[in-house]
Amino acid sequence: MVVIRSRRVFTPTGERAAAVEVRHGQIAGIHPYDDFSGGIDLGDTALLPGLVDTHVHVNEPGRTEWEGFATATRAAAAGGVTTIIDMPLNSLPPTVSVDALAVKQAAASGQIAVDVGFWGGAIPGNADKLPDLHEAGVFGFKAFLADSGVPEFPPVSSAELREALAAVDALFVVHAEDPGHLHDHASSAAYADFLASRPAEAEHAAITTAIEAARVSGRRVHILHLSAAGALPLIAAARADGVRVTAETCPHYLTLDAGHIPDGATEFKCCPPIRDAANADLLWRALADGLITCVVSDHSPCTPELKRRDTGDFAAAWGGIASVQLGLPVIWTSARDRGHPLADVVDWMARRPADLAGLPMKGRIAVGADADLVAFDPDGTFVVDPHRLHHKNPVTPYAGKTLRGLVRRTWLRGREVADNSRDGRFLTRKD
Ligand SMILES: [Zn+2]
Repeated sequence: MVVIRSRRVFTPTGERAAAVEVRHGQIAGIHPYDDFSGGIDLGDTALLPGLVDTHVHVNEPGRTEWEGFATATRAAAAGGVTTIIDMPLNSLPPTVSVDALAVKQAAASGQIAVDVGFWGGAIPGNADKLPDLHEAGVFGFKAFLADSGVPEFPPVSSAELREALAAVDALFVVHAEDPGHLHDHASSAAYADFLASRPAEAEHAAITTAIEAARVSGRRVHILHLSAAGALPLIAAARADGVRVTAETCPHYLTLDAGHIPDGATEFKCCPPIRDAANADLLWRALADGLITCVVSDHSPCTPELKRRDTGDFAAAWGGIASVQLGLPVIWTSARDRGHPLADVVDWMARRPADLAGLPMKGRIAVGADADLVAFDPDGTFVVDPHRLHHKNPVTPYAGKTLRGLVRRTWLRGREVADNSRDGRFLTRKD
């Protein structure tokens, strides 16, 4: 038995001084703080549930030079994230069949510092493979409505999305940009040119497509990495009609401002793009209202060469932001400035993504849950030094920023995560 005490334990029913009793990797009891004198006493350092990041691109095998299981999960643990769900693409093969899932699990085996689950992929022509892949334990299926950036994971048409939804009763997570509204743009180091090539209308149109597919099929559809706040009324109206649609957003859309992205700074390139500060304000409001259900990283790194840091050409650079280690302090820094308590951040980044994926034993400090715990100093500050990140490639738009909130220690199922920990397990979907 291990007991971890803190004067600030964040439980689903509120923050309080408590002693968390851990047995066999699970939370066996939550007692008054003064009931135990021994154990690990964190004092005023907060004890949070381990965060759940349902949107991580690990890229291994196949593009392991971009990111791999050892580095991604070590970075996750250092950032207070104890569960990740890996996206089906950018690895080779992509996770579009049971065989491909086995290849990916074999690659991850023995390397993971946190618990790892997998999304499957829905691509043109694999609808008949989805039921078996779902049975094999993926948490649902990702589909792209626009070019994904890699040839082996093509987008689906509206008809193909509906075919996939008809094939299996699963959660579908959708990259919602409509190719009809995306514009090619010439080589340019100007962020404004890139932003203009991916207008908000592309998200509005694709989200309409996804909502209609959810409405017709009755299936659950989740909008990934929502950037365009103008789509929020579409989602609200659909939900009011009983359509099963949810949405997430990411730290970069909430905290970065297109008006302040330097030209040539391709570390800020992601799709959909980061928009302006007024847009971010509306995303924060939707998060506060519960219309956006969770905040996840969309950690999607690549090599510095593919980011084209040499030329700063936004047209040629890979789109993706590396942030799995930084999401908690990035969000907490802005949330605090906007008057949100830390409990809100825990809800957005731990409990709600766990609920999205159907993981009741994750993302909460509650009796019976896994003892995934984080000691977090909400008042400490640090300057982001990319070379102190555990990401494989130290390229991040947060470099040099001063952030609030220090992850002091992380426990996975009751065991403290250390540099060489490889105690992560594979998670599979439970019905
Ligand atoms: Zn992604």
